[in-house]
Amino acid sequence: MIPIRLNWQRYTDGFQLQELRQSSGTKVKIAEPRSKRTDALLHEAINLEDPIVLRLVNCETDADYIKFLHRFGTLEEKDVSTSDEITGDIEFRYGSFGDPRSGGYLHPAADASNKSPITLNMLRDRALSLHGLIKETLWTGRVDTGSKVRFLNELMDKAKVVVRPCFVHTADKMQFVLQADTLFAFMVMEITAAHEAEAVATSCERCRKVFLTGPLTGRRSHAKYCSDRCRVAAMRTRNAAKGK
Ligand SMILES: [Zn+2]
Repeated sequence: MIPIRLNWQRYTDGFQLQELRQSSGTKVKIAEPRSKRTDALLHEAINLEDPIVLRLVNCETDADYIKFLHRFGTLEEKDVSTSDEITGDIEFRYGSFGDPRSGGYLHPAADASNKSPITLNMLRDRALSLHGLIKETLWTGRVDTGSKVRFLNELMDKAKVVVRPCFVHTADKMQFVLQADTLFAFMVMEITAAHEAEAVATSCERCRKVFLTGPLTGRRSHAKYCSDRCRVAAMRTRNAAKGK
């Protein structure tokens, strides 16, 4: 497979969680960068041993999502609002891979920069959609090839995944790569790469986290645990139960 690359950035000082009350009385949680400082992030290729998409899918709490944003960057926006003042309602829409995406927020001041904070509800919605997608197609490999092909093409289409062909110069060699335009596009490509490798997804018998097994994933095809840590912990629990 041609390597998929991502040139991205993350906010050096992380994000803070804010809760805003909408005029309807409902509350919206948003993540705003603590500062405008950024670090460059480069992913040279997809790593099926620890794909970023599963890091997102395995988030549970608000703190997990904030940590994810800090470590891997936002899904789609490079420009994110760092304003302290947000007035008016935040608009966002659930339930599809189309627009608006992770930001999903129109600044009431309608400033030309069109920067948005990250709406955590949207991020969670996106994580759930990806989780659903993985469950539908990658889970224990029970879907037939024809359906998979149709499904994956539909996904790349709906998600408007863009990858650009280019050459890069690394270690005195030239390499042909496909450059993803956003972290979200990169994550969708991770899902497609897992399919191409004929890996399957399952969840850990101990911690319930989703992980991949089979070719290129660093795990045997019938692995029950996501990591050695979980395997050893499960063994200890079993042994302790036997010892009683
Ligand atoms: Zn585990």
